[in-house]
Amino acid sequence: MGVLLVGTLGLSALPGCSDDNDHPAGQRGATESGGRQATRFTVAGTGDFLLHEVVTKQAASDARAKGKDGFDFSPMLAQLKPIISETDLGICHVETPLAPPSGPFQGYPTFSSPPQIVNAIRGLGYRTCSTASNHSIDQGEPGVRRTIDDLDKAKIRNTGTARSAKEAEEINILNVKGAKVAQLSYTFGTNGIPKPAGKPWIVNDGLNPQKILADAARAKQAGAEIVILSLHWGEEYQHEATPEQRGLARTLMRSPNVDLILGCHAHVVQPYEQINGKWVVYGMGNAVANPTANTQATHEGIVARVTFTRNSQGQWKTQPSFVPTLVTPGTIRLRTLSSDSGNQATVARTSQIVRSLGYNIPLASTQN
Ligand SMILES: [Zn+2]
Repeated sequence: MGVLLVGTLGLSALPGCSDDNDHPAGQRGATESGGRQATRFTVAGTGDFLLHEVVTKQAASDARAKGKDGFDFSPMLAQLKPIISETDLGICHVETPLAPPSGPFQGYPTFSSPPQIVNAIRGLGYRTCSTASNHSIDQGEPGVRRTIDDLDKAKIRNTGTARSAKEAEEINILNVKGAKVAQLSYTFGTNGIPKPAGKPWIVNDGLNPQKILADAARAKQAGAEIVILSLHWGEEYQHEATPEQRGLARTLMRSPNVDLILGCHAHVVQPYEQINGKWVVYGMGNAVANPTANTQATHEGIVARVTFTRNSQGQWKTQPSFVPTLVTPGTIRLRTLSSDSGNQATVARTSQIVRSLGYNIPLASTQN
């Protein structure tokens, strides 16, 4: 369990303290003199929605089964709903750019995915998504714009790509049970696809620690108490965090302006590590992907959960946990697993990987 020491003096002077929206009626006055109101919230992050062709075919067949056209990703992801919708801040990763509603759709290697995934993202209860990935500009600027437009329309906050230089400068801050929480998103690169001329801001690429830390500092200056980084990084299909991941995590976690890292891209689960009392989840695996492609490990993922508790002195404590997930073939479905579910081989393998750097991270109940 880590303790984040947040400067209480500075925080108690923030204008946010007098913002009625931050303090539900009935709880005001509970704050100790000079301190802050105690609060507790849980973040739940998931890995890549990798919409391979068989996954979109399943969504089409699930739509038909309901007498609808198009795609319905909700049945396939339904088991995430009790976990994500009951949590305070559900964070997803939209790895691939979204197509127009009627396509054309493309799978690997230059994705263009059915935008109907956004209905599922909203229905499952996600509040914010990262969009910086090595596939962000697979469909150029139109793909970036469509993805942001669709998430905005569904009122899903998003970060990592931008439609303008001004939008790229905006910090994504959410109110989570009265605490201001920022999510920022970065990718190592864009598979060699060049960014449109004159638009370097279209995607946060390059994993430049100076840039990331400058953004995190701006987030704190803008009132964020907790800054979460969504990083698209690591070596595909490799459970071990790479030396580059571990080095960058150390650099970023040295800063008081970064509080949690949630990693994506490897398509397999990677471990948790505690650095400076704060948690790094190196890789959450795939949330959904073709359950017959590659190796079994790419069908496995986690919901990474971290509960933040702030006492009245303004100090944060964190408690991590995880829910193993498995995408099963046939009728493609994502299963959330626990110590008494089926698929105990996956539970055991995933637990071993999550804990492989020596931290005994507990399984979370799948009920909350
Ligand atoms: Zn990726």
